[in-house]
Amino acid sequence: MTAEMSPTLPVTVHLLGTGGPRVDPQRAGPATLVSVGDEHLLFDAGRGVAVQMARAGIPMASLRDMFVTHHHFDHIGDLYDVMLSSWFDGRRHPLTIHGPPDTKRLVIALQTQIYDKDIEWRGDGEPVFGGWSPALGHDVSTGLVMETPAWRVIADNVVHGHGLAFSPAFLKRWICYGYRVETQGRVVAISGDTVDCAGLRRLAQGADVLVQCCYLAEAEITNEHFRRLAQYTLACGDTVGKIAAECGVKTLVLTHQRPRRDDAMLRALEAEVRRDFDGELVLASDLDTVSVTG
Ligand SMILES: [Zn+2]
Repeated sequence: MTAEMSPTLPVTVHLLGTGGPRVDPQRAGPATLVSVGDEHLLFDAGRGVAVQMARAGIPMASLRDMFVTHHHFDHIGDLYDVMLSSWFDGRRHPLTIHGPPDTKRLVIALQTQIYDKDIEWRGDGEPVFGGWSPALGHDVSTGLVMETPAWRVIADNVVHGHGLAFSPAFLKRWICYGYRVETQGRVVAISGDTVDCAGLRRLAQGADVLVQCCYLAEAEITNEHFRRLAQYTLACGDTVGKIAAECGVKTLVLTHQRPRRDDAMLRALEAEVRRDFDGELVLASDLDTVSVTG
């Protein structure tokens, strides 16, 4: 069986957390989950991800593979919770956490330097947990990350602040990915945090669903800070529709929203994106789901 030969498994995208780094009472931190049948692939572990998985009815113990886009705290802050709560929930197999270089170091540090006492306490003192079921950090390169009979995941470099005034030494360590899930002839692309770039366009090419970071409406880009953010750091309403249209995306899902007091700027954002893109458009709220029909 190949990735193209089993067209019967349902594919669903769960927008677990649609916010960004700023605390937002309306939105959890970045986390997207792609379900292929009863397999669940988690992308990023932002603030509240474990609670959001429970609300979505996704059994944490079923997680086997998760994927980290980059090492900003809003994307990895609750990695510990995914690792430990999935164990609580009955995970007896290793959890593999794929991500850019240094992911393995972070995953080892959480287990051996931050939560080592907690893990030993529960593992040795509460036999019901059956001993620690480890998480394995896996530093991956661009290209094919993982392939099973039902799905494969591809990573590509995206551009998230690389044009800012960082030292060459830092830039060597600042590697950011987006991902592309291919399953049964269907494609879900996860932009990660990025501005328009070649890697994003390769990932999004012909996607049935593109889960795209979009921090601001164009109407909100009113000062130098936001202009720099839209240029160097996060795609905004002025570009996401063009990217989706030019890549032939069927359904564009906008996530990684800034906190807002009301929906006025979301409506402005919708109108801006509509100028460039006439496919399905979802301005995602937490726990929205998108069925990927191909
Ligand atoms: Zn982010």
